Amino acid sequence: MARRYYTCIVCGRRFPEGQGIILEKAGVVLHFHSRRCAVRFFKLFLERLDDDAARRALRELVRELEQARRAREERARKVI
Ligand SMILES: [Zn+2]
Repeated sequence: MARRYYTCIVCGRRFPEGQGIILEKAGVVLHFHSRRCAVRFFKLFLERLDDDAARRALRELVRELEQARRAREERARKVI
């Protein structure tokens, strides 16, 4: 079966299915050949986001990640 290829939206490099990073949001599919290209894209994306729209999602996400990290640290302490 022919392997499907995608094109990185940041650098234009082609990559086969199963590699790279493919994300979908709001009906838009994003193809990145590497984490580096994904980070470059998301830095530009953050600059363009409206502050009010971004603030809530950013704060919620940071809070959730902090809670998950604290829970992992707590579990690690109980093991010792
Ligand atoms: Zn790329």
